[in-house]
Amino acid sequence: MPELPEVETTVRGLATVLEGQTVARVAVNRADLRRPFPADLVQTLTGTRVTGLGRRAKYGLIHTDRDSTMVFHLGMSGRWRIDPAELGKHDHLVIETGNGHVLALNDARRFGSVDLVDTDKLDAFPAFAALGPEPLGPGLTAAHLHRAFENRFAAVKLLLLDQRIVAGLGNIYVCEALNRARIHPEREAGKVSKPALARLVPAIRTVLEESIAAGGSTLRDYARPDGELGYFAKDWRVYGREGEACPCGGTVKRIVQGGRSTFFCDRCQK
Ligand SMILES: [Zn+2]
Repeated sequence: MPELPEVETTVRGLATVLEGQTVARVAVNRADLRRPFPADLVQTLTGTRVTGLGRRAKYGLIHTDRDSTMVFHLGMSGRWRIDPAELGKHDHLVIETGNGHVLALNDARRFGSVDLVDTDKLDAFPAFAALGPEPLGPGLTAAHLHRAFENRFAAVKLLLLDQRIVAGLGNIYVCEALNRARIHPEREAGKVSKPALARLVPAIRTVLEESIAAGGSTLRDYARPDGELGYFAKDWRVYGREGEACPCGGTVKRIVQGGRSTFFCDRCQK
């Protein structure tokens, strides 16, 4: 499932061919993904100029000069193909730019989505309205986490996965960030010390930025017709490494929290 770093890298890849360009042609090849494509998608986008791209949580944003923003989610299997040699049956949305680039939104399992939102009303878009701060933005601070965790008995790991506290953090990144910040994933959130929270914020940013950097170096994959959208960083310290050594010399353990695997080291994470 594409996580925040994959979405960020996708947006950066799309920006290289879309930013400032005119949309010459739009084709929708089926009625729906997770939900129907907007009825006015083709009409609204055709002839528009892309003024910029962005990301909110795991959603990509394509802003246009008609004050309308196309919001896309890659779901489980979605990916954009840039200038594919030929279109395939899972290329459900195809955009052609004025200077001849072809962008295809490919989604075999169709858990993704495409919406059109008035650009000045993006904050009120239902999926965005309740989101916490972006993990790579200025809103994520130790003070923010301290306020969000105060008097909370839930495990710190579960609250970090709560999109209302931090937007867009997935399971892998939370496991890795907690390891780097030396925080036990089962610790009650309200009892995580201020120094630990001060370590956690840069740890979250580092694991995300390293993945984005790794993705940037494989940007070419977006043009590869058979390109798999996988996880960029394979050198996780704890994720998927049960029984292997943590960098501290301890042994990585696996537990289940909220129905999902947590990997951590009980030697360095207290
Ligand atoms: Zn360790």
